[in-house]
Amino acid sequence: MRVLFAGTELFPHVKVGGLADVMAALPKALRALGADVRLLLPGYPALKRVTAPLEPVMALGNLMGGGEARILRGRCPAGLPLYLLDQPAFFHTDEPYAASGELPLRFGALAWAVAHLGRNGDGQGWRPDLVHAHDWPTGLAPAYLALGGEPRPRTVLTIHNLAYQGLFPADLLEPLALPLDAFQPDGVEFYGRIGFLKAGLVYADGLTTVSPTYAREILGPAGLGLEGVLRQRNGRLRGILNGVDETVWNPATDPHLPRLYGPDHPEARSAGKAELQRELGLQEAPGAFLVAIVSRFAAEKGLDLVLEAQPWFAAHQVQLAVLGQGEPELEARFLAAARLHPGQVAVHLGYDEGLSHRMYGGADALLVPSRQEPCGLTQMYALRYGALPIVRATGGLADTVVDATTEAMAAERATGFTFLEPQTAALQGALTRALALFRDHPAAWAGLQRRGMAQDASWRPAAQAYLAFYEQLLG
Ligand code: ADP
Repeated sequence: MRVLFAGTELFPHVKVGGLADVMAALPKALRALGADVRLLLPGYPALKRVTAPLEPVMALGNLMGGGEARILRGRCPAGLPLYLLDQPAFFHTDEPYAASGELPLRFGALAWAVAHLGRNGDGQGWRPDLVHAHDWPTGLAPAYLALGGEPRPRTVLTIHNLAYQGLFPADLLEPLALPLDAFQPDGVEFYGRIGFLKAGLVYADGLTTVSPTYAREILGPAGLGLEGVLRQRNGRLRGILNGVDETVWNPATDPHLPRLYGPDHPEARSAGKAELQRELGLQEAPGAFLVAIVSRFAAEKGLDLVLEAQPWFAAHQVQLAVLGQGEPELEARFLAAARLHPGQVAVHLGYDEGLSHRMYGGADALLVPSRQEPCGLTQMYALRYGALPIVRATGGLADTVVDATTEAMAAERATGFTFLEPQTAALQGALTRALALFRDHPAAWAGLQRRGMAQDASWRPAAQAYLAFYEQLLG
């Protein structure tokens, strides 16, 4: 089976969030099962640099007014076969979503290139049976393919996050080479605008999202206006939980950790904790409960709840370590909290891959209070690294963390702590339960750590589920 994977991020070269991790790991897992998966991404400078040699396979002319475009073929350092859309006027930085007026045309060009390669092949004998698009930037690819008629490859669109829908003015219809009669509610139109994600939801043969719970949630209010379309297409929608790339995320081999450890010896993490406290300027107290956050600062991540819970952290002398960046107001409020509580609250603004690993490896707990979380990868990394997740039970967080209730503890199933209401009191309730277990029942705490670390979180089951879905769509 030949599959063309199309998206806008690829770990470790171009990464904004979890999409990058998925784009790197899932094709690898699918290839391990025998599928011939190749990637198509924008020709970002960072990707062109690492993907040598690159061979031009096809010229596409002036795409969407962004100048001469062509498709190059190469292989990324991890070994995956890769096509790049080389169009320097559109893809001249490594920031996929940098705001600019040309954004819709840039991703229109990408989607068009995906559809073109999908339908015609690469001119060198490779043509996909199926095109797998990811999120709104490639949402128009299934539309171009369906509107262009048969014969064409089957199409799948994966929703990594419905909060980003790619909505643009209707007057871009013609520049985007979309037919006028597609501008209607069962086409690309969404409340008077062109919806890139909406288009994908309507025209793709199959839809997936990244956890079973999120697949159910988006049929209701979490659908953010798209729940009607999603309900119509529910028969073609699957929720498939993301996995963890165990070659990157393994505390027994991780080059970013000061000391390596495995599931049998979670106590060996203490060196990493001390190191982390030093690195971040936290008080070097081995007994202090250290809670970490690694997150984009976006409204849906629920970080305002953590800011409101600051008095709780101070009153219980619980340490808080935050790594993230995003909304300026959240950045300013976290910095203020760190200034107010030196040694107890540490905030590192920015993107730092190595520090993120050290936080999963050194913190006692990882806090993920998301209002919405399609899958969430940080809690899965935390589980593998022995930092117990404290999460709001939504989307993939609900599917991956088993709350330490009395019953779950007795049945030896608990892996972390969950709370339901997106409210500070509920968050503090979960934190209080976690703190009590940490301080008063260290052996039970270590038991939870060992269970989380030993779980199989590989991509294999997800890859098998995607393959089964592809096969179903290909009839
Ligand atoms: P989302 O995709 O919504 O951002 P996920 O939990 O699915 O959330 O994925 C987030 C990914 O980005 C994880 O790999 C996490 O470690 C990483 N990450 C987020 N913020 C940072 C940061 N500031 N520095 C380093 N890694 C980060």
